[in-house]
Amino acid sequence: MIKTINDAISEKGDYLAGGTDYMDRKRHHLIGDRPIDLMGIDGLDQITVDPKGGVTIGALTSMVNVAQTAVLQEKYAGLAQAAGALATPQIRQVGTIGGNLTQATRCQYYRHPNLTCTKKGDAVCGGREGYHPNGVVFDNGGCAAPHPSTLAMALMAYDAQVEINGAEIRPIFDLYGDGSDHSRDHLLGEDEIITRIILPAAEAKEKAAYFRASARARAEWAIVECVVCLVMSGDTIKQAFVSVGGVAPVPLRLPQVEAALVGQPAVAETFKEAAQLAAEGANPLPQTEYKVPLLCNSVEETLLRAAGLADE
Ligand SMILES: Cc1cc2nc3c(=O)[nH]c(=O)nc-3n(C[C@H](O)[C@H](O)[C@H](O)COP(=O)(O)OP(=O)(O)OC[C@H]3O[C@@H](n4cnc5c(N)ncnc54)[C@H](O)[C@@H]3O)c2cc1C
Ligand code: SF4
Repeated sequence: MIKTINDAISEKGDYLAGGTDYMDRKRHHLIGDRPIDLMGIDGLDQITVDPKGGVTIGALTSMVNVAQTAVLQEKYAGLAQAAGALATPQIRQVGTIGGNLTQATRCQYYRHPNLTCTKKGDAVCGGREGYHPNGVVFDNGGCAAPHPSTLAMALMAYDAQVEINGAEIRPIFDLYGDGSDHSRDHLLGEDEIITRIILPAAEAKEKAAYFRASARARAEWAIVECVVCLVMSGDTIKQAFVSVGGVAPVPLRLPQVEAALVGQPAVAETFKEAAQLAAEGANPLPQTEYKVPLLCNSVEETLLRAAGLADE
């Protein structure tokens, strides 16, 4: 039985955490049948507050615990709300934050045995050629499916870092890069395990929210999703952090929207104007044009929710 990080990385096979994505891919012969079960490693299912005010989340922490732990609900509300809204209650109970960050694309061309996908080594990207209304709107010419991880998108808004193999610390951005490696959903090496997620200390007076536009309330990935975190100085926005998912091969921060918010009053007009910039640089696919206004509206709605101005 695997008890330590060293036990796990010295084995040959594929890491298994909650198994909610692993087992689906195993059924479709997309992953090997030598699981390296991480769940027996001690100490990786804890959420701890660091002396300097940050919070560390063990990679084996269930998503329901991320959603329901008081310190995360109070200080990192965008993350806790995102964890509480994704998938289904059953999957949030079993699935881990580490597995969420390293899950594989949901593209049906990847998952279906008879459809072609360059991520599986085929010559043709079936998703780009065929049915793709769930596809990207920031197209880099490679994989046309959006990155599946809600929590990666949320952690980007908090400038989180990930600890690898109990030692090395990397910015969450480095886990995914810029999406130019079309063959992969994350950039971890084969002998690399995410062991912890590190959140920097939250600023006093942060206002945050998560919003998803989705075809149904449960058991579905978001069409577009967003986390916003606003640091206030009185009624003025001192700092803004805006991340979006469902629109690009990697989760995205939107620096142009953030810049338009800083120094402005936290009122509906500010949010409307800034949210229009969310689509800057968008080059949608033939079937994803509808996502462009949805992206702007979702960012606006998340900003209104963060500021307590939305009619929810
Ligand atoms: C109906 C449905 C709806 C869903 N909706 C959403 C959604 O809206 N948003 C969303 O983000 N997700 C969604 N999911 C996906 C779900 O969140 C993931 O399946 C889950 O988070 C995976 O966690 P796990 O612990 O079960 O990982 P596993 O299935 O055990 O592993 C997943 C992958 O991660 C690797 N892995 C696991 N842990 C580590 C680690 N610590 N270090 C390195 N590699 C590791 C495994 O090797 C495997 O490749 C949905 C799933 C379903 C079935
Ligand atoms: S969009 Fe991505 S996952 Fe889907 S078939 Fe193309 S390469 Fe594969």
